[in-house]
Amino acid sequence: MRPLRADIRLDRLRENYQTLKRLHGGKMLAVLKADAYGHGAVRCAHALADLADGFAVAFLEEAVELRTQGITQPIVLLEGVFDAAEYAAVDEYGLWPVVADQWQLETLLKHEWKTPVKVWLKMDSGMHRAGFFPHNYASAYTALAQSGKVSDIVKISHFACADEEERGMTEMQIEAFDMGCAGLAGEESLANSAAMLAYPQARRDWGRAGLALYGIDPFLENDPSIKPVMRLVSRVFAERVLQPHEPIGYGASFYTKRSTRVGLAACGYADGYPRRAATGTPVAVNGRRSRILGRVSMDMLTVELADTHEGVGSEVELWGDTVSINEVAAAAGTIAYELLCNVKRAKFVYIQ
Ligand SMILES: *Cc1c(COP(=O)(O)O)cnc(C)c1O
Repeated sequence: MRPLRADIRLDRLRENYQTLKRLHGGKMLAVLKADAYGHGAVRCAHALADLADGFAVAFLEEAVELRTQGITQPIVLLEGVFDAAEYAAVDEYGLWPVVADQWQLETLLKHEWKTPVKVWLKMDSGMHRAGFFPHNYASAYTALAQSGKVSDIVKISHFACADEEERGMTEMQIEAFDMGCAGLAGEESLANSAAMLAYPQARRDWGRAGLALYGIDPFLENDPSIKPVMRLVSRVFAERVLQPHEPIGYGASFYTKRSTRVGLAACGYADGYPRRAATGTPVAVNGRRSRILGRVSMDMLTVELADTHEGVGSEVELWGDTVSINEVAAAAGTIAYELLCNVKRAKFVYIQ
């Protein structure tokens, strides 16, 4: 069998959840959208079921998958519904929809609810992607509150720049949120991973932990209080020695400078490893940091081997404990989120 494997350490997922909940205070949603950032939403939900105050997914189908697999905890739909008929399923499965615009609001109010619904009413506090403007927020809130169809309203907003050095934008968004919510009762939810780590004033009734739940530091600093859940590993399945001044791989983008032992590892861009990761991108061979040489192919990549202790059968960690996924993302000009979501063809091994 091809040796590419994604080890998913569910014990670490649970520890990270507890760490983040303790840090944030109040209640914590475990964000499981996009198949739990590529980790497997159903397995992650079951692993967290006895701990989590609730889960969050992007849209209805992701929530229904969890419900049909036996997940009974609250589930927030972060994008709300895409057509009015979805509210029947929201009602049936007891989901908590975000309402982010006038169309979602009006169709929710038209629906004949069997059970009053808990709505997460979204404010656009400055990101300008989704949500009611602060000056329209109170009237949307009042329409919901007076409808008789709504059990609770959670006031929610999302930050554009919580993981960036520049702090002004997030502070401005918090201020806009608080002004737009003035006098409106109910719970609040502001913080994603980066915000709960860096902005104590964004810690409200509900946190929403995604990236940090999976053990990735949004500030690219390897925060020791959270631990990577995924470890993407493969093996060297062929080795050879190349003379000086020999090219490696497609495009002959790299030439050896000296006699070099190289290994072929079973992982390529069809597995979700980024093709843009160039020569020098870190990998770990049997726990020792090394690097990729030449271009990443569809099914394999070439790594530099040190000595005769490394060769066919050596383990190659693409990311995880010795190599941070943030390093690979930086080398490929992207972010850890994208790399995690792209992993495929690997054998997923769940470790309790
Ligand atoms: C994805 C998402 C989150 C989680 O963000 P992280 O940066 O991964 O913690 C929180 N809130 C909303 C609205 C989201 O879409």
